[in-house]
Amino acid sequence: MEASGDWRRSVKVIVDYDACEANAICAGLVPEVFEVDDEDNLHIKLDVIPASLADSVRHAVRSCPKAALSIEE
Ligand code: SF4
Repeated sequence: MEASGDWRRSVKVIVDYDACEANAICAGLVPEVFEVDDEDNLHIKLDVIPASLADSVRHAVRSCPKAALSIEE
């Protein structure tokens, strides 16, 4: 059966950790997904981004000043 809902259109976030400077801009925009810990390491909290957060995550990806984020649809 084909999926008709949005939930299957999940996206994944890819981080270029060499480029990331842990300034937490993404974490400020979407704290449900991005987290910078006390040691300045960025963590992606969700392996698969639900459709309800996908637009916010795309915005965060575009907002990263280091272009360290990308999305895999
Ligand atoms: S906005 Fe970019 S540079 Fe800043 S913490 Fe997120 S991925 Fe890293």
